[in-house]
Amino acid sequence: MRILVVEDERKTSDYLKKGLSENGYVIDVAHHGEDGLHLAMTETYDAMILDIQLPGRDGWSILQSLRRAGRQVPVLILTASDKVDERVRGLDCGADDYLVKPFAFSELLARVRSILRRGPARQPETIVILDLELDLPRHRASRAGERLDLTPKEFALLSLLARRRGEVLSRTLISELVWEMHFDSDTNVVDVAVRRLRSKVDDPFPQKLIRTVRGVGYVLDAS
Ligand code: CA
Repeated sequence: MRILVVEDERKTSDYLKKGLSENGYVIDVAHHGEDGLHLAMTETYDAMILDIQLPGRDGWSILQSLRRAGRQVPVLILTASDKVDERVRGLDCGADDYLVKPFAFSELLARVRSILRRGPARQPETIVILDLELDLPRHRASRAGERLDLTPKEFALLSLLARRRGEVLSRTLISELVWEMHFDSDTNVVDVAVRRLRSKVDDPFPQKLIRTVRGVGYVLDAS
């Protein structure tokens, strides 16, 4: 397995290279944004670890260029910021996962293994689940061909559930990813929003898609 590490801080990149090599991965390192993009475009990697703040070209721009070029390599973002909007931005840009610095090496290794397992499945432009259709770039949703009138937050919530269909998402995770709230905040907001979303997405239709998993959270699936 070959992994490209794009990280300008030598200490971090040396540490990553040493640790990952010891775990059997073959590592290339780029310390400059342009070099990183060039390598990612011209070589074949099984995964990429991408720092955001880089000289030359930042991680966002590298990620966008890769995805626009149809490069599907799984990408783990390293960010110094644990701001929720940064994380959402990363996932929206086509990152597969993110890790906030400083991190434990064991955590990084677990994330790398996980994105390698998932492979290069890219986020689609549209998601279709039964008669529910989401047009992600246009932020539009319809069911049975009828356009759903959703607020931006409702769309964000629905697309999060749809992207991770079949996976039970906790209120905490939902509130972090859709609202800028952390776990000790009032997750009742999530329940209220899901209720409103259901009134538009599920109530008018015989087959319900959003399910409550008692004590855990919510899941969207066609079951
Ligand atoms: Ca950096």
